[in-house]
Formats: sequence, C-alpha cells, structure tokens
Amino acid sequence: MSIYQKCIPDAYHASIFEIPYQQLKEQGIKSLFFDLDNTIIAYDDKELKEKHLELMRNLKKEFSVMVISNTNYKRVALALNQLNVPFIWHAKKPLKFGFHKGLKKLDTKKEETIIIGDQLMTDVFGAHRFGIRSILVASVKRKSDRKITQFNRKIEAFILKKIAKKMPKLYEERLKVYVESH
Ligand SMILES: [Mg+2]
Repeated sequence: MSIYQKCIPDAYHASIFEIPYQQLKEQGIKSLFFDLDNTIIAYDDKELKEKHLELMRNLKKEFSVMVISNTNYKRVALALNQLNVPFIWHAKKPLKFGFHKGLKKLDTKKEETIIIGDQLMTDVFGAHRFGIRSILVASVKRKSDRKITQFNRKIEAFILKKIAKKMPKLYEERLKVYVESH
C-alpha cells in the first residue's frame, strides 16, 4: 500500500453525528477510538459540548469507547472530565504506539476497531499504518493553534492533490467533500 493509499479513509462523514454507528456494529466493530481535538471538541474549547457528551454517552452503551490524542494529559483529562472513558495522551499519531496501547487497554482486536478523526496525516494515515480502519470527519473548527497541526495540514494539502491526480475515483468518493468543507 502506498503512502497515498494509506491516507484515504475507509469512509468520510461530515461530523461524528453523521456516522452510521449501527452499521458499524453490524460489520463487527466493537471498539471506537476517537481523536480529541477538532473531532469531538473544538480546538479552542476546554470541555465537551452537551450534544457531544450525549452522543458519547450513548455510544458507550453499544461500544467500547476510547480517546487517543496527541495532546497533553491536562487538556485531555479536562475535556473528558464529565465522561468516564479511558484515554491516551501524547499518543504520537501516526506512530503505532498509542493505538497499540489502546487495543491492549480495551482488550480488543484490530479488525473490531475503527479510528475516527479529523486529520489525514495523524488519524487516517496512523490507523492504516497500524492496520485498523478509519473514518475521516470534517474538523469541528478547521483552525488550530498547534504548530504541528498547521505543519501536518500543509503536508495533507500536498497529499490530497496527489491522491486527486492518482486515484480520482477514490478522491471523489471519500475526500472531495472533506476538502470542500474547509
Ligand atoms: Mg484532531
């Protein structure tokens, strides 16, 4: 699998609210690994909004839910303080270590797990490097004050252009709306 193929999500949805969770369940998915920043919370909010909390609480009844984030402990712990879910901070996505730790913690298998996130270079590429499926969502807010995210977005733009050229059909299906949404 080329680096470009690894950057193509298995599906795209406009937000975590649009994901067909029931369908995932029918496909054998038991565990959901969520990214934190700009996936379940805006980068500049400190705590999850009520509607996000409600969705996460409902998902917890059906799935094992975990948050895997590249940000620091304080930020993740505060964001999730009203939600009793396990989390990993400083996960260093796209490296495998955070995902590996997550699988162990939930005692789940790669094929029963899916990662949901807003970044191609960390969430989607990371998931596929590790061998689990991915869902890309549009960012809650596109901006981020993290330098590394701004850097990743530049690489992402380059990769997206390459994918559009090399794999126009897949680009059309799974990435075009993502690009146009920002
Ligand atoms: Mg993110």
